[in-house]
Amino acid sequence: MAFAPSRRALAVGAVVLLALLPQLPLPDFWITQLDAIGLTALAVLGLVLLTGVGGLTSFGQAAFVGVGAYTSALLTTRYGVSPWLTLFASVAVAVAAALLLGWLTLRMSGHYLPLATIAWGLVAYYLMGNVEALGKYDGLLGIPPLSLFGVELRDNRSLYYPIWTLALLAAWGVVNLLDSRPGRAIRALKGATTMAEAMGVPTFRYKVAIFVLAAVFAALSGWLFAHFQRTVNPSPFGMHMGIEYLFMAVLGGVGEVGGAFVGAAAVRLLEDRLQVWLPSLLGTGGSAEIVVFGAVIIAMLRFAPQGLWPMLAARLPAATRPRDRDGAAPLARHAAPAAAGSGPLLDVKAIRKQFGGLVAVNDVSFSVGRGEIVGLIGPNGAGKSTTFNLLTGVLFASGGEVRLAGRRIDGLSSRAIAALGVSRSFQHVKMIPGMTVLENVALGGHLRSGGGIVRAMLRLDRAEERSLLAEAGRQLDRIGMAALAGEPAGNLALGQQRLMEIARALMTDPALLLLDEPAAGLRHQEKQALGRVLAQLRGEGMSLLLVEHDMDFVMGLTDRIVVMEFGTRLIEGTPAEVRASPAVRAAYLGTEH
Ligand code: ADP
Ligand code: MG
Repeated sequence: MAFAPSRRALAVGAVVLLALLPQLPLPDFWITQLDAIGLTALAVLGLVLLTGVGGLTSFGQAAFVGVGAYTSALLTTRYGVSPWLTLFASVAVAVAAALLLGWLTLRMSGHYLPLATIAWGLVAYYLMGNVEALGKYDGLLGIPPLSLFGVELRDNRSLYYPIWTLALLAAWGVVNLLDSRPGRAIRALKGATTMAEAMGVPTFRYKVAIFVLAAVFAALSGWLFAHFQRTVNPSPFGMHMGIEYLFMAVLGGVGEVGGAFVGAAAVRLLEDRLQVWLPSLLGTGGSAEIVVFGAVIIAMLRFAPQGLWPMLAARLPAATRPRDRDGAAPLARHAAPAAAGSGPLLDVKAIRKQFGGLVAVNDVSFSVGRGEIVGLIGPNGAGKSTTFNLLTGVLFASGGEVRLAGRRIDGLSSRAIAALGVSRSFQHVKMIPGMTVLENVALGGHLRSGGGIVRAMLRLDRAEERSLLAEAGRQLDRIGMAALAGEPAGNLALGQQRLMEIARALMTDPALLLLDEPAAGLRHQEKQALGRVLAQLRGEGMSLLLVEHDMDFVMGLTDRIVVMEFGTRLIEGTPAEVRASPAVRAAYLGTEH
């Protein structure tokens, strides 16, 4: 059998090799290159998290690197502050700038954020180049070297260690983060915010958090850069570098920690080679490498949109993280306010929703009692899913009232409604396809846990994480999907994805569960199994509201049924009453079922 080291062993080997490199008789040139790659990768790592994982495109990373570099340069040269103190100052200024900028722009969608980061990059560059105290375009000279234990780190071999220590620590932190409670929330930011909010995740806060974290990595890179070059001027922090960092992230493999290093290395080395080759080829001293870079970018986007890292990773042994859930403490129940009290759990009065001229939900009223399963049926387009969206704060009602355990909830955000004890599935499955089924379900436990970003990065969250994953495993087991826990969710059949959504909703420990066509796409036996699970939930005191097309499924399971047609409530009654109603038959004739 071939020698097959684990990915962890390879990572340890790579770190040991990196630690030994400066001790080997490598030419200075290579050490300088490695220093530059480490510095760059640190800034790119921020974009991997922000843009690759979080889906927030920023052209402003170079400006944050500049903030870190200039803060330290100014404080050390003008005020004689120790570089180790300016480390904190650099980070603090970058955090303040990122908080302000993030708070102003991250609520905007689409192209506003990239544009805002471009504006920020231009403003920062203008300030660096024009403020007297920052030395204008000449910059600041005479920055003191870092010193460690009384030894000045003046040459590139000694600076190598602080650079790579910080870069690798940051990488370790991001790998840890992505494999945690806040990490799952962050991974939901790209394309699944509606679902995440419905699971109680404050998505805006997480957007600001990764924006700030990316700025911190940039500032650390800038701080190191200032003490590496011992001089700063605006040019390495201009817009072209903001673009180049993004390019490195994309080239390396956006969303991949390894991609930050591969992308930084590839661009650095290519740039260096081009500066040697192109003038001799073309006989000009111009910057023809820009043209070559442009061509490389276009070729990459066309032929390898996933970047270099996935190609490399495919040759590495699979990443196997031990999923040791034994001995996990049980996860706390969700102390949902709705669970307490008496009277109907959900009371809907004349709720209404208009989309322009279309009245999708027309003054519909009904209630759901405690421990009751109510069915909401009607032909396609009747307004059932819209009603769900009104009840869960995904849409705001144009009129009417919704009360949960006596308390008005119309007008509350979907996150606030989730916190009160309402959970749901979506008619069109909403998930994070690249994440495992187990992790997708664990996202539902957000409100039952509390680990934050710093704890996760430092790997101090393992006990809670074990509890979350163990509970997610239990919910999958309950729904008969334990065998698929380790699959990427995107690989599942549609019916299984719907079951996964139910497990995720159950993971929130709701008092009221809203399921939108849960049995669609399931085979007969799977439907029967699902029916048994839902009946059992009712037995445990949970209330359910069920949209379903399969009449037999609804008739056998529900206590009461509300029938909708063209946005209005046609009738409400027991399954037998509904079955006997001529109006319902008429509504369903000619449509499905
Ligand atoms: P059901 O779930 O009962 O099949 P829906 O609630 O999805 O029906 O849709 C009810 C009606 O509202 C349909 O005519 C649909 O086209 C319309 N509708 C739903 N969502 C929107 C929206 N966001 N904008 C405009 N029209 C919508
Ligand atoms: Mg629907």
